[in-house]
Amino acid sequence: MYAGSHDSYSTFSDLFDNVIEDYHKHGKDAKHVSNMDFTQLNCPPFTADEAAMIVSTRIRVGRNLADFPLGPGISKEQRDKVEELVSKACKSFTGELAGTYYALGSMSEADRKQLIEDHFLFKEGDRFLEACGLNRDWPSGRGIFHNKEKSFLIWVNEEDQLRIISMQKGADILAVFTRLSTAATLIEKEAKFAHDDHLGYITSCPTNLGTALRASVHIKLPFLAKNKEEFNKIADQFFVQIRGIHGEHTETDDGVFDISNKRRLGRSEKDLVQDMYSGVKAMITAEKKLAEAAKPKPVPVKAGPHLKKPEDITGQIEFPAGTKSLLCKYLTPAVHEKYMHKKDQAGVSFEQMILSGA
Ligand code: ADP
Ligand code: MG
Repeated sequence: MYAGSHDSYSTFSDLFDNVIEDYHKHGKDAKHVSNMDFTQLNCPPFTADEAAMIVSTRIRVGRNLADFPLGPGISKEQRDKVEELVSKACKSFTGELAGTYYALGSMSEADRKQLIEDHFLFKEGDRFLEACGLNRDWPSGRGIFHNKEKSFLIWVNEEDQLRIISMQKGADILAVFTRLSTAATLIEKEAKFAHDDHLGYITSCPTNLGTALRASVHIKLPFLAKNKEEFNKIADQFFVQIRGIHGEHTETDDGVFDISNKRRLGRSEKDLVQDMYSGVKAMITAEKKLAEAAKPKPVPVKAGPHLKKPEDITGQIEFPAGTKSLLCKYLTPAVHEKYMHKKDQAGVSFEQMILSGA
């Protein structure tokens, strides 16, 4: 195990306290119970406007082989053997999961950079992995398997010997979890993973012990980004973590964040995907409220010939008492609220229609 850092904890001791606290809550005689039954996930599809906020969804689990030492203590020969075993096993995937293994050492610089930029491949030179000896002999033994769509991937010999990943554009968390569950179950039938009845899956970083599952979305939250206190409060309440979109220890740009489950231990995989869904749903609700509150408030204007341009109509039009026009009859506050600043299919705005008397 190594003392990796973690954005939501200020020090390693905070991080470890969190793991220990979870460990005790879990009860020292409790057994780790894995559950990847995607049919038990309660995640109704997001509405179209909510889904549009979510750029992509990714779920991964970390796994290590029972018959080999963990990365910080492995020899070069053993690591290369792990690569050989995993890359061979990858050949047996069929259908949607079928794909190719690419060794990092024989990949072109351009391909490698592109895969990192597109969020498919791990970065290199992580200082925490460096500090614990996980970067020895780089890039030997490292690589990535992926299917044609790049929706199912396996990182080999990065922080853990296997990182099994399911990802795709958009907000379909159920589809991503279904694919991960199917693939991980298949792999587990063939591979003997390092596992402890109490702690669950054994991983290089103690924060991953248990399920080693991190389910995340990349989501646009520009208003919450400016309301850090509220943002962090929701994250704490729903046990989710906020990261930058270029992976752990990165800042974010353009108000897009990586939101994922914070817990790994003492709960099932399905429960942790549920944490992520619930946290994301709560953040979306808060974001929509903030966006609504930030909308410019309408300023009522008096009817009259001074209203010449669409911009002159800044809110409800007030007609002199006794006006008998259709405009006066139909331009109710509700109609204003509903159509202000909107356009019809031909691109004619509500304000233009008012000016023309339509
Ligand atoms: P891990 O916990 O799997 O090590 P990292 O935070 O190190 O994850 O990120 C690894 C890569 O996965 C980064 O390129 C990151 O941008 C990408 N990633 C994480 N979540 C998503 C997501 N929901 N959509 C797209 N890419 C993602
Ligand atoms: Mg990582």
